[in-house]
Amino acid sequence: MKSDFAGVTHTGQVRARNEDALLLRPARGLFAVADGMGGHAGGDIASRIAIDIVDESMAEPDDDVVGRLQAAIRSAHEAILRAARADHALSGMGTTLTALQLRPRADGCVIAHVGDSRAYRIRGHEMSQLTRDQTWVQAQVDAGLLHPERARRHPYASILTGALGIEEGELNVEILEPDYRTGDTFLLCTDGLLARLDDDEIHRILNAHKDLQGAARALVDAANDAGGPDNITVALIQLA
Ligand code: CA
Repeated sequence: MKSDFAGVTHTGQVRARNEDALLLRPARGLFAVADGMGGHAGGDIASRIAIDIVDESMAEPDDDVVGRLQAAIRSAHEAILRAARADHALSGMGTTLTALQLRPRADGCVIAHVGDSRAYRIRGHEMSQLTRDQTWVQAQVDAGLLHPERARRHPYASILTGALGIEEGELNVEILEPDYRTGDTFLLCTDGLLARLDDDEIHRILNAHKDLQGAARALVDAANDAGGPDNITVALIQLA
């Protein structure tokens, strides 16, 4: 399977540091974004540990893509917990992770997801959110207690119900095997892209750019122009 790709990560306009991390391994068909969090320090360390462990764990090609991604995410989760226990300053750090691995024999892709970063599939005039946010507000929406329009800018919008490195509860790795067609584009992004832009605006920007690098840059520019309150990371993967 041939694919084109682009990725950009940016600190934004408000935060002092970029705690997001981006993984682009086009030769191996592996792409991921991670959004780290944690007190005084550690957010950038947590997202970096997650990205590095997924990168290493997926280095050898294998047909069991789902099993390998699940194992990689679990070992990243444990590595973050160990690092936090070893250094009190890192206590409480965690990270989201959304990873896409193309299958070795050109027959699809697998997405693995924890937290509130997102994967979308863009197919012509349709843009579909593939991942489900692991957040308190999403649970309220699912229970019919909150209108989806209100979820994103809700005061509790950033409360996660799932993250790597968080001890409470069980790590719930969402696995998706989306169908795809030639020309489909997958977008992986952290929530900093979504802080001020809605899905329609993102879709419009993507459609306005033929080349993926230009599109990725334009998305990050638009998020920054709208205030850039958070770190912004995007990866675009187009299947040819
Ligand atoms: Ca964020």
